[in-house]
Amino acid sequence: MIILVTGGAGYIGSHAVLALQKLGHEVIILDNLVYGHQDLVTEVLKTKLVIGDTNDSILLKQIFNQHKIDAVMHFAAYAYVGESVTQPAKYYRNNVVGTLTLLEEMLAAGVDKFIFSSTCATYGVPEKVPIVEDQPQNPINPYGTSKLMVEKILQDFSAAYNFRSVCLRYFNAAGADPDGLLGEDHDPETHLIPLVLQTALGDRESISIFGTDYDTPDGSCIRDYIHVADLAQAHVLALEYLEKNGATDMFNLGNGHGFSVKEVIATARKITGREIKAVECDRRPGDPPILVGSGAKARKILGWQSQYSRLEDILTHAWRWHQKRHQ
Ligand code: UDP
Repeated sequence: MIILVTGGAGYIGSHAVLALQKLGHEVIILDNLVYGHQDLVTEVLKTKLVIGDTNDSILLKQIFNQHKIDAVMHFAAYAYVGESVTQPAKYYRNNVVGTLTLLEEMLAAGVDKFIFSSTCATYGVPEKVPIVEDQPQNPINPYGTSKLMVEKILQDFSAAYNFRSVCLRYFNAAGADPDGLLGEDHDPETHLIPLVLQTALGDRESISIFGTDYDTPDGSCIRDYIHVADLAQAHVLALEYLEKNGATDMFNLGNGHGFSVKEVIATARKITGREIKAVECDRRPGDPPILVGSGAKARKILGWQSQYSRLEDILTHAWRWHQKRHQ
């Protein structure tokens, strides 16, 4: 099959491209390279890269005219929660309007299979954990709202145009390709695990623990860290599901158990053998105390099985990548 992967030069998108290539699919990447990495596409993935925005309908028409695209995996999005609060227009323009433009061009070209990167941020502060798919979605920031808006658009497209989609709601994406080819490289970096590992490398003096007075066993926040290779595998399975005429649906991608910030730091000390200075700080605004997702529906319907749910594996793979990227 020929798959258009938007955001394929980014963290999760690039791992999905690798998984698709391993199965023999042809991949075309559309990425504006604002946060993506051209070197990973040219040196590792070695596939066609179209540089541009999903807001660019003329460019999209060209892509759909030139290639017989079978399905689209849509990773391209801005994903900094804090920035979405101060610059909501940027988020609604790119994440919502950009996606709508892409969907309209897919309709015009007769491409009707779509896999969407959604997020646990659509749930806001959950009433109970592990979160299941039919729990209320009340996002608490524009990033989460932008993703929820697209989910709603997709439901309406499904009803009106028989346009089939799968929304994958990721919990905390983490880790790196187990073979060391790809990994996480955000600039600016705001995520816990890369920051912890940068501290281990000596690139940062210390890691801040945002909040130690939460109602959790050790007082720090708990998150469900999910290996990026497991996320990539879920995309492959979602594609197979749509190929077999599966109906529009949405799935949580979580392991069903979480780790606290302090546990992550302690395990990172063990894996890296480095000291990793930690400083206890105030809470970061907008952080729910516990986010854990049930992957039961994805297991049942997509046949998804996470291979790397151990924090040690996630950190070992991420550490290998960070050491290599640091050289
Ligand atoms: N966190 C932290 N220090 C940091 C970055 C993150 O204590 O320097 C905490 C954050 O408050 C949250 C968890 O680590 O509880 C995971 O945060 P991250 O930004 O990685 O992902 P998010 O949960 O926001 O998607």
